Amino acid sequence: MQNIDINSLTPAMKQYFGFKQQYSEAILLFRMGDFYETFYDDAKICAQVLGISLTSRNKNSDNPVPLAGLPYHALDSYLPRLIKAGYKVAVCEQVEDPATAKGVVKRDVVRLITPGTLTEDNLLGGAAENYLAAICFDSQGKGAKGSDKVGIAWVDLSTGQFYAQVTNIRYLIDELVRISPSECLITEDKEDLPSDFGQQLEDVIGTVVSTRPGWSFDKKQGYQELSRIFQAGSLEGFGFAEPDSSIAAAGVIVEYLKETQKIALDHISSLRKINRDHFLQLDQTTLRSLEIERTIRDGSTSGSLLGSLNHALTAMGSRKLRHWICYPLNNLEEIQRRQGAVAELVGFDNTRDQLRAILKNVTDIERISTRISTGRTVPRDLLGLAQALRQLPDIRQQLKDCCSELLVELSGQCDDFDSLAGMIENSISPDAGLSIRDGNIICPGYNEQVDHLRGVCRDGQSWLANYQKKLIEETGLPNLKVGYNKVFGYYVELSRIYSEKVPAYFVRKQTLKNAERYITDELKQYETEALTAEQRCKELEERLFQEIRREVASHTLRLQQVAETVAEIDVLSTFAYLARSRNYCRPEVHEGHDLEIKEGRHPVLDVQLGGKFVPNDVALGGRFGDVGIITGPNMSGKSTYIRQTALLVLLAHTGSYIPARSGQVGLTDRIFTRVGASDELSRGQSTFMVEMVETANIINNATDRSIVILDEVGRGTSTYDGLSLAWAITEHISSTIKCRTLFATHYHEITELSELYDNVKNYNVAVREWKDDVVFLHKILKGRTDKSYGIHVARLAGLPKEIISRSNEILQELESNFSKEAHRPELAGKLGKKDSVGQMALFNNHPPDPLLEKLKQVDLDNLTPLQAINLLHEIKTDLENR
Ligand code: ADP
Repeated sequence: MQNIDINSLTPAMKQYFGFKQQYSEAILLFRMGDFYETFYDDAKICAQVLGISLTSRNKNSDNPVPLAGLPYHALDSYLPRLIKAGYKVAVCEQVEDPATAKGVVKRDVVRLITPGTLTEDNLLGGAAENYLAAICFDSQGKGAKGSDKVGIAWVDLSTGQFYAQVTNIRYLIDELVRISPSECLITEDKEDLPSDFGQQLEDVIGTVVSTRPGWSFDKKQGYQELSRIFQAGSLEGFGFAEPDSSIAAAGVIVEYLKETQKIALDHISSLRKINRDHFLQLDQTTLRSLEIERTIRDGSTSGSLLGSLNHALTAMGSRKLRHWICYPLNNLEEIQRRQGAVAELVGFDNTRDQLRAILKNVTDIERISTRISTGRTVPRDLLGLAQALRQLPDIRQQLKDCCSELLVELSGQCDDFDSLAGMIENSISPDAGLSIRDGNIICPGYNEQVDHLRGVCRDGQSWLANYQKKLIEETGLPNLKVGYNKVFGYYVELSRIYSEKVPAYFVRKQTLKNAERYITDELKQYETEALTAEQRCKELEERLFQEIRREVASHTLRLQQVAETVAEIDVLSTFAYLARSRNYCRPEVHEGHDLEIKEGRHPVLDVQLGGKFVPNDVALGGRFGDVGIITGPNMSGKSTYIRQTALLVLLAHTGSYIPARSGQVGLTDRIFTRVGASDELSRGQSTFMVEMVETANIINNATDRSIVILDEVGRGTSTYDGLSLAWAITEHISSTIKCRTLFATHYHEITELSELYDNVKNYNVAVREWKDDVVFLHKILKGRTDKSYGIHVARLAGLPKEIISRSNEILQELESNFSKEAHRPELAGKLGKKDSVGQMALFNNHPPDPLLEKLKQVDLDNLTPLQAINLLHEIKTDLENR
C-alpha cells in the first residue's frame, strides 16, 4: 500500500484506515450506501478474484486510490469466492441510519469471516465438517523445548462440535491430517514453534494459518474461560481434571471466536476429550495412500472410500460417516454394538427402506440449530427444522421392533419435539423466504396486530370505498368522493355547490376550481396508519421472528443431541443399505491375530468394475503366517489386493459390513502403508527419501497388532541397494515385529525368505499366456512367480512394435547367457537367517580379522600400562596400513 497522509483524508477514509489497521490480515469490505467498497490492495485482490472492475478514486491526483465495489445485496454470492480463495473477510457495516447521522456515519466490523468460522450453508459443503483448530506445544512460552507433548483443540462453529486432545509431537501432523482443519491458530512467537511450522501446516494440511499472541496460549486462563462458558465449576466432567495444553488451545479458540464472530456461543456447550488410543490409528500416509477421503490423482471425494460409501441421506449422516471412517474403533464391544444395529437393519428390509425414505426428509438439524442459536438464521431455516422434527416420531416408530442395544438406545433418544414443531408451524408462514426484512414471515392468525396491519395495506381500496359509502349515508351528499394524491394525501372531495351542507367535522384542506377538499379525523388517522402500515408490519414481524427464534434457540442442546442421534441412525442404515445392495458380509472381529477373508473385494473398484471384479482370499497372522509376499507382473492387481485388504480391515473396525463372502478380523491397533511414489516430488523430497521415511515410521511404530501394507519398497534406488533394503526390512518384520504384513514386490528374490522363516508365505497373481499374449486373471494364488511380463505390459501400454520385438530379442539373449542360478543371486543360501542377537549370519562366514584375533588373545590382567600403549600403537599402525 502506498504511503498515505492520514491528515489529508476524508473522515470516512480515516475511519476506513482505523478498521484496516485492526483487521490487517483480512480484506475489509467497507459499507458505503448500497455498496461494499474495497480500497488499495484489497481492491486489486477483489477485482482479480471476483472479476469486478477496478477503478480509482482521485484519478487525477498524484495518489489515485484503487477501488472496487460490490453491491450489498450480492454479498452472499461474492463471499464464498473470496473465502474459497483462502482470504479472510472483515465486513464493516453502517451501524446508524445515514439519513439521521450527524457527521460521518458510525460503522463497525460486524463479523470477520475466516475459512474456519463459517456457518452458512452456501459457504460450506453440507457433507463435510469445517474445523477451526488451535495448536499449543507444551513447551510453548517456556523458552525450552523440553516436553514432547502438544495440545490440539478443534471446533466446528457450524455445528458446535468441540474436541481437544493432548498427543505426542510426532503424531501431530497425522492427527491434523485426520482433522483436516480449514484454519489453524498458532502462536505468533516463532521461537516457540518448530521451524517453518506455519508453512508446513499450509503445505501438508492445506489449511489457512492465523497467528495469535503468545500469552493467549495459557492453560489456566483457558481452563477458567472454558469453565465460564460451560457454566461449570471445573472441567472434570468433560474429562479434564487439570489444565493442559489442549485446554490452552481450546481457550484460544473461544477467544478468537468471541473476538471475530460477535455472536453468542451458546451452542458450543461441551468439549469432548479425544484419546488416540481409543481408535484404530491411521497416519497421514495411510489416509492419503489408501484414498480414504479423496483420491491421490485429483483430490476429489468421488473415487475414494468415503465417496463410494457415502449413501447417507442427511448432511449430518454424511459428516458422521466421515468421522467413523477416519476414526475407526479399536474396542471390540463398541464395534460389535454397531454391527448388531447394522445386522438388524440388514435383516429387516422393510424397516430399513421405510427408515431411509423418512431420513430423506430430514434437513440439517445440527447446522440449522446453530444458525438459530447464533442469530444467523433466516425464516426458511425454522420451517426446515419443523419439517425435520416432524419426522422423529416416524423414525421412532420404524425402530420400535428393533432390539439391538444401539438401535434401542438411539430410538429412545429420538425425543418428542411436537410442540416445538407446532409452535414453528403456527407462527412462521409456509411462504416465508430467505430474508427477515422483507416481511411475510408470520402466519395469518398468529398475531392480531400483524393481521390488522396487513389488512390496512391490502384492503386500502375497499376501506376507502366503504368509508365513502358511510360518509354519503351520514351526510346525505351522494356526490361526495374519498380520494388520495401523493402531495396532499387522503381527502374528501365535494363540489362547491354543496359547501353549505358540509358537516362541521369536515376540515377544509384544499380549494380547487369547482370543488373543495376536506379531511376528517377518521381519515387522518387512517392516513397515518396506511402510510406506515407496511413498514410497521415488517418491523413487528421481525420482532416476532426474533422472539420465536429465541424460543427455538432455548432448545439448542436437545436439538444437537437429537441431530447426533439421527446422524448415527443414518450411518447405520447406510451401512445396512450397502451390505444389502452390494452383498457385504458381517466380519467377525475378534481379539486374536488372525485375519482371514474369503472372496474379498475392493470397496471402490468392486462398484466401478461391476461384476468384473475378481474376488480374492487373504489369510494372515497367527496360524497363517505373518508376512505375505506377493509377486506378479505389473498391472496384474497386486496393489489393488493389498490396499483392498487394508480397507476391509479398516471398514470392519467402523462397525460396517465388508465386501467379502466371509471375514475374520483380529483387532488391529494401526494400519501402516507404504504405497507408490504419489506426489512427493512436488514437495521437494526425493521419492526414495520419502519411501525410507515412511518405512522408518512403520518399522519404529508397528506392533504385533498392526497391519502393514508395503508396495514396492526399495524401488527408488539401485537394484542391489533396493533389494538389500527390501530383504532386511521384510526380515525384520517377520522376525522381530511379527505383524500382519502384505508386501507386493517385483524383487522375486525376496520370495526366498519363505525358505528361512516359517511365518513368511509367498503369493502370486495368476497370469495366463495365450497365443503370445498375456491375460491377467487378477487371482491371488499360493506360491511365487518368476516371470515379470514387463515387455507384455509395455506392449499393452502402446510402445511401438519395433521396440517390443527388439526388447524380446535382447531378453532372449540375456536369458541364454545367464543360467537360472547365476541370474538370481540366491540370497537365501548365502545369507542364511538373522541370528538371535540380530546380527547377520553373513558376517560369520568371513575369514576372521587378524586384528580382532590379536585383541582376543590379549591377557588384560597381566598387561602393564606401557604394554597397553604399545599395543594401541600397533593396532593403529596396522589399521592405517590397510
Ligand atoms: P499392480 O499393482 O500389479 O501393478 P494394480 O493393482 O494397480 O496392479 O491393478 C491394475 C489394474 O488391474 C487395476 O486398475 C484394475 O483395473 C485391475 N484389477 C486389479 N485387481 C483386480 C481384480 N481383483 N479384479 C478385476 N480387476 C482388477
